[in-house]
Amino acid sequence: MNSMIDLRSDTITRPTPEMLDAMMQAKVGDDVFGEDETVNAFQEKVAHMFGMEAGLFVPSGTMSNQLGVKVLTEPGDEILIDEKGHIFNYETGAASSLSGVQVRTLHGKDGKLNPGILEHTKRGHFDWEPRTKVICLENSTNKGGGVCYSEEELRAIKAFADREELYVHMDGARIWNAMTATDVKPEVFGEIADTISVCFSKGLGAPVGSMLLSSKERIAKARRFRKMWGGGMRQVGLLAAAADYALENNWDKLGEDHRRAKEVAQVIFDSKFLAVDMNKLQTNILLFDTVNETAENVIAKLAKKDIQMIPFGPNTIRATFHFEITDEDVEQVKKALAEIGE
Ligand SMILES: *Cc1c(COP(=O)(O)O)cnc(C)c1O
Repeated sequence: MNSMIDLRSDTITRPTPEMLDAMMQAKVGDDVFGEDETVNAFQEKVAHMFGMEAGLFVPSGTMSNQLGVKVLTEPGDEILIDEKGHIFNYETGAASSLSGVQVRTLHGKDGKLNPGILEHTKRGHFDWEPRTKVICLENSTNKGGGVCYSEEELRAIKAFADREELYVHMDGARIWNAMTATDVKPEVFGEIADTISVCFSKGLGAPVGSMLLSSKERIAKARRFRKMWGGGMRQVGLLAAAADYALENNWDKLGEDHRRAKEVAQVIFDSKFLAVDMNKLQTNILLFDTVNETAENVIAKLAKKDIQMIPFGPNTIRATFHFEITDEDVEQVKKALAEIGE
């Protein structure tokens, strides 16, 4: 077994025996024929939770984001996103390749957009302009340090989008963390977004699986593209059962990850050699800066003490908390961080 304390990502969690047991119990069928009852029930359940008409289970958050972009745009359109956004940074340029759209980045705050930043961005009136179609939001923001939108902020963006006749896509890879931190109810996301992508493979701990949520019509369209892109899966109820187990049993535990992130952040805050903005620390993602050394150096020092983190810039490090990290691990991490610079 791995003796490292692995804080590189909340995607590294492995299925627990209980989750594997839930997978073993799943009633499955061929989902390309629409005959997997576990997937069908799970899609309906999650769609209903968010007040959406339908859901589509897909292999990854990248696929659900890209399907969202695909069903809301035509080639030559433009989508708006914060420059820290996952769709822009970490999806291999897929929006330009798969949907033929141009991605226009905006300089928001901690990965978040607001109506002030979005003002006057819509274009498409003249033949020579791209048509701006979608505002892409991310909640919580990954590169923004796990920061979340408040309900008020979401509703302000929705009012702007309605006025400008723009669609809203929500990248909710960590929407479960966001809901834990802010108490924004799932149906609010259904009201403010036209398409939502949610992941079960981040903090919730499923081995695989994301879902696109939208209207029946858009999900029918997305289903065709999922097949085209090679994401039509057969007895995939096995994976949906794991995702359903994760949702039922692990969502409640995310608050613990948030607490542990704060405890570690406090040591960083108290250190002369490291820096963190405590106000930005809302969820399980802890972004912090090094003061006198490079991020690589500090990461190498931590690795010698069996702690893994990843660089998020020349002087920025990301630590992500998840259910395999115990309070004992947290004590070890705090001790190691307090010793940085000594
Ligand atoms: C992880 C993540 C995704 C999806 O990633 P996959 O690895 O494709 O499942 C999308 N958006 C954000 C913000 C993420 O952190």
